[in-house]
Amino acid sequence: MNELWIVSACLLGKNCKYNGKNNFSQEVVDFLSDKTYIAVCPEVAGGLSIPRTPCEKRGNFILDKNGMDRTKEFYQGAMRSKIQNATHAILKAKSPSCGKGKIYDGTFSGTLTEGNGVFAELCIKSGITVFTEEEISLQTKREVPIKKE
Ligand code: SF4
Repeated sequence: MNELWIVSACLLGKNCKYNGKNNFSQEVVDFLSDKTYIAVCPEVAGGLSIPRTPCEKRGNFILDKNGMDRTKEFYQGAMRSKIQNATHAILKAKSPSCGKGKIYDGTFSGTLTEGNGVFAELCIKSGITVFTEEEISLQTKREVPIKKE
């Protein structure tokens, strides 16, 4: 099967973070250099602005720091960002949209809890193999090839 990768756009340098900045990763750029990929930002795809008030996941709800419910935008954005036929993804760690395994806990205190962001969860449930940029970075440093599934 041909690989098609999804990547969090902020990892490629797109200024789509809540604060108008990005999470550029040279390691991710290098890793993708011989791959076919599509960059997405689920929060912007859901209609949220740049910049925007930061959001965190609390249970199945997404609230911004002012208590505004952004659940609908997050779920819509995730649906719009899912790429048909995608096989793999590199998604930004800890984000309420893109985080895999550990995300911020909804208290806006920098505390992490177990769980997936809304988009990461959708990708995983759709059978897409998801990595964080931290996993890509670790693999690159160890010079061990990423296991293909
Ligand atoms: Fe990056 Fe994902 Fe947040 Fe968009 S939603 S800024 S792609 S972590």
